[in-house]
Amino acid sequence: MADSSSSAGGTGGVSATDHGGGLWSVPVPIPGNPLGKTLVYVLESERGPVLIDAGWEHPEAWKALKEGLGGIGVGVEDVYGVVVTHMHPDHAGLAGRIRERSGAWVAMHRADADLIQKMRDDLANPSGENLGDWLARAGASPEEQAALRRNDGRPDPPARPDRLLEDGDLIDLPGRALRTIWTPGHSPGHICLHLEDRNLLFTGDHVLPEITPHVGLYPYDRPDVDPLGGYIASLQRTAELGIEDAMPAHQYSFSGIPRRAKEIIEHHEERLTEIRDLLTDEPQTLWTIATRCVWSYAWEKMQPISHHLAIGETAAHLRTLENRGHARRTGGLPLSYTR
Ligand SMILES: [Zn+2]
Ligand SMILES: [Zn+2]
Repeated sequence: MADSSSSAGGTGGVSATDHGGGLWSVPVPIPGNPLGKTLVYVLESERGPVLIDAGWEHPEAWKALKEGLGGIGVGVEDVYGVVVTHMHPDHAGLAGRIRERSGAWVAMHRADADLIQKMRDDLANPSGENLGDWLARAGASPEEQAALRRNDGRPDPPARPDRLLEDGDLIDLPGRALRTIWTPGHSPGHICLHLEDRNLLFTGDHVLPEITPHVGLYPYDRPDVDPLGGYIASLQRTAELGIEDAMPAHQYSFSGIPRRAKEIIEHHEERLTEIRDLLTDEPQTLWTIATRCVWSYAWEKMQPISHHLAIGETAAHLRTLENRGHARRTGGLPLSYTR
């Protein structure tokens, strides 16, 4: 699919890629982030263009989005609606600003809208827990806890949506057919969007061609959920849709969604086995287990915020192992596990 696309317009540094049939992508930078860019998709409809995702709330990203849209003759004020695949800042960040300029609706899954509300409630209630408290429960040293008490690094919550989506809902895209496929895991309300008139899938962060999205459990001992188990089930469901062509939110468009979804499941099954093999009859803290996992960067060289994410990921795998009967949490604090 990437082979048949061509660059269109753009007088500045950013130009949209034309995927044919009234579909373009605009690469919007994520300043200071190794992910590089969010691909914002533009879909033509009878009522005006609808965007899938919006990009990070940052002046450089805003400029790039406007440039890319301008190159295909679209002004921000023309936008009819913004569908957000999930509430992360590289996707939902600019949605509020686009709405201000255009009066566009903003739609996302109910579960991510709930998460935004919770972030706003937490901000309004400064007596709530911070990441330092979470690290303390995981068994981190006082120095590690202190680093995240000073600056817990969480971005501001994005704008609230006007429209809530549920699995199976058709998006308001007059003259076309774009359907919501709920794929919880990377976030509780992550959605993919099936463009039925082209039989392609906007996969957000759920299925990316070369990288796997972060799946974590927050707080690390949240009792009622299994995000990784949910993610694996969502990947299985995505593979079974039988749609081949992917329009992901990062990297590049590709063909072979079922194959890629199975590869990602395999990756997590290997990770589950790795963590299961670390468990013994002696309780180990969540912190200790995370430090013993293999990471792409040396543990000692990671920033405190990366430690937090690595612990969240480890906790998610431990939760899935608990549900499968392969790990047991011992009582009390810090959070500790045995086999
Ligand atoms: Zn994301
Ligand atoms: Zn992303």
